[in-house]
Amino acid sequence: MARITGAKCRLCRREKIKLFLKGDRCFTGKCAIEKKSVPPGQHGKMMSKLSEYGIRLREKQRAKRIYGMNEGQFRRFFSIASDKKGVTGEYLLKLLESRLDSVVYKAGFMPSRDAAKLFVLHGHVQINGKPVNVASYILKPGDVITVRPKSKELKVIKSSIERTKERGGINSGAWLDVDFDNLKITFKKMPEDSEIGSILNMKLIVEFYNR
Ligand code: SF4
Repeated sequence: MARITGAKCRLCRREKIKLFLKGDRCFTGKCAIEKKSVPPGQHGKMMSKLSEYGIRLREKQRAKRIYGMNEGQFRRFFSIASDKKGVTGEYLLKLLESRLDSVVYKAGFMPSRDAAKLFVLHGHVQINGKPVNVASYILKPGDVITVRPKSKELKVIKSSIERTKERGGINSGAWLDVDFDNLKITFKKMPEDSEIGSILNMKLIVEFYNR
């Protein structure tokens, strides 16, 4: 499983954008991007204009960092999306958002994607009543995700849901049904582009792999 183990804020500064890798801190004035958007390193201030290739590479790197995936995993998702009829970039984004860890995070049960990934890996989640500990599991319409009974009292879930509510709840559109009281998420369908609200330019990522 790929996880971001280094300094997460450094990655945001490198990409010059908020990647929301640290949970609650990302929504406060302590966010490194809010305070200082210069790329890290002694040459950060001097970074030159990107080439066409560089622009596409950076967009792909942003996506990998947001979803906490390594190159092999991300390429596998791209390959699944490119085999599918339709717009590859749109389907790739839908696939990424249909991952089990993405949905647990999106529902507000965990403060960050990284935390959601660990939560799944440690066996706290069930799908349709059966334990699943694969973070990259792609959900199908109708799947019901619940928290394992003996994990329901974990503080991290309660505090994450509280913070989510304080920020105005989740924007799950018509694709997720989230029941905070029973810690239950129904994956109704794959999300539409407009429901995801991604900061990524998927066209650039497709162009990177198809170059
Ligand atoms: Fe990125 Fe800001 Fe979150 Fe750090 S606190 S991971 S800089 S969004």
